[in-house]
Amino acid sequence: MTKSDKTGMNRRTMLAATGAAGLAATITPVQAALLPDPDVAFDFDVVVVGTGMTGVAAALEAAQTGARVVVLEKLSEKTMGGNSALAGGGFAVPSEDSDAARQSYVEDFIKKGKGRGNSALYDVFAANARRDVDWLRENGVTFLPEGPLPPYRLNIAVAEPGWYMGMPSLLKSMRAKIEEAGGEYRFDTKARQLKMDKTGAVVGLRAVGPDGVVDFNAPSVVLATGGYAANRQMLADYSDPEAGGLMVRGRETATGDGLLMAQEAGAGLAGMGGLMALHIAAVDPRETAAGNPWAVLPYTVAVNRHGKRYVDESLGYVAHGKSMLRQPGQRAALIFGSGIAESDAAQPTLGGFKRLGIAITEADSLDELAAAIDVPADALKATVEEYNAAIDGDAAPGLVPPKAALARRIEGPRFFAIQPLAPGVTLTFGGIMIDPTARALEADGRVIPGLFAAGEGAGAPFFDDYIGGGSLINCLVMGRVAGNQAAARAKS
Ligand SMILES: Cc1cc2nc3c(=O)[nH]c(=O)nc-3n(C[C@H](O)[C@H](O)[C@H](O)COP(=O)(O)OP(=O)(O)OC[C@H]3O[C@@H](n4cnc5c(N)ncnc54)[C@H](O)[C@@H]3O)c2cc1C
Repeated sequence: MTKSDKTGMNRRTMLAATGAAGLAATITPVQAALLPDPDVAFDFDVVVVGTGMTGVAAALEAAQTGARVVVLEKLSEKTMGGNSALAGGGFAVPSEDSDAARQSYVEDFIKKGKGRGNSALYDVFAANARRDVDWLRENGVTFLPEGPLPPYRLNIAVAEPGWYMGMPSLLKSMRAKIEEAGGEYRFDTKARQLKMDKTGAVVGLRAVGPDGVVDFNAPSVVLATGGYAANRQMLADYSDPEAGGLMVRGRETATGDGLLMAQEAGAGLAGMGGLMALHIAAVDPRETAAGNPWAVLPYTVAVNRHGKRYVDESLGYVAHGKSMLRQPGQRAALIFGSGIAESDAAQPTLGGFKRLGIAITEADSLDELAAAIDVPADALKATVEEYNAAIDGDAAPGLVPPKAALARRIEGPRFFAIQPLAPGVTLTFGGIMIDPTARALEADGRVIPGLFAAGEGAGAPFFDDYIGGGSLINCLVMGRVAGNQAAARAKS
């Protein structure tokens, strides 16, 4: 890192100087009106914005190829890691190192996104996912033994020691490796504006931090700033007026800063429209991150405040979360009996809730259960009776709404309810337009030289829903691609 002199230049002299120098650049007049010239500037090869999974993958890759890297984070050191620090820690990888496994991996992702996700990125995930998880292992990250994730034909690798527990230490060990390779972290430092030269290339950014306004000059900037799940205005404007009022499962700081900065620099956005651009899950409002009953949900009967079913529970937790937007008071309960409570399939949810201290409501009868969860007993009993009677093999096609799979009778001796559940935004799918090498694009497809973007805030990888572990693998693979490309540009 090189520290530039305090310039003391006014805007006019700065423009003249940078015109001659070419790379040392200025910001556009519109942006210049927002922030004053910096007191201090630093020169790096690669500036990475964000310390989540994407940022650490980009920074370590760039630093290990010899680039001088700085990682900026608007949060404090204590809360570094953004939403990645709160994540379940599952990474979706092809089930083995073979062309057939890679092909079915891509097919499953395409199918999950109804053919409207970014399949060019799925090819990159498929080609690199296993290698990149191994790269994490080489850099000190440990995983539980990989396992299948039915109904998909892929595997899930969960960071040790297990679901919702492994990400903080993963991010910490990546930080140690980045620093070992010469990279630097700057906390409480918010990137505010990208800087561009006269050719339209990005040549750094202007940030505000403990030292005031600071410029970080570099031929490559990687935006790894995550999504906009906590930007209520963006949620309401782009997706659905209801969405602006939803609970946020992750950090309130996921405000889409990277999307806004990139847009100011001319980048296009993709995949922003409608509820299709959101991942919504119905979770326990007392524990919005880990209080997600995803494992048991498909086997249960989901009822609203009136004791009525409203969704095919076997469609999974995102379809369930979105369906709750239209339920009275946006509150629901998952009902099940002893057989389901004792099944292996339910244990990731029941074990996780126990670890978190979230009580599951139990009763000896449906009458008692209805009273405990405050829904009309007659309605609940009628719903369960109709449900049990309609089960035919593994499904209940005659019900309204029907159940396509995993239908199990709700029977005693004990009855259970997970409640109250409320919908919250987990992640957002829309983002900065990029190509498969993580270069940011204008809306007409032109490359913005020097600007790279990856992770949740780039590429619109998913549409409507995603396969669990799909986002972290996107962050890892595309973050690493961005770091590699950014370092290569700096060298060239
Ligand atoms: C509760 C929960 C559980 C999840 N579980 C899983 C899972 O098991 N598997 C899976 O695949 N996905 C999961 N996801 C989704 C996944 O965690 C995220 O999509 C992913 O972690 C995003 O990583 P990222 O690096 O793109 O962004 P983030 O991890 O959000 O990191 C972005 C960072 O950039 C910083 N930043 C933003 N703007 C600025 C700025 N202007 N200046 C400086 N810094 C800035 C932020 O503070 C943040 O630290 C989960 C999400 C949540 C909320």
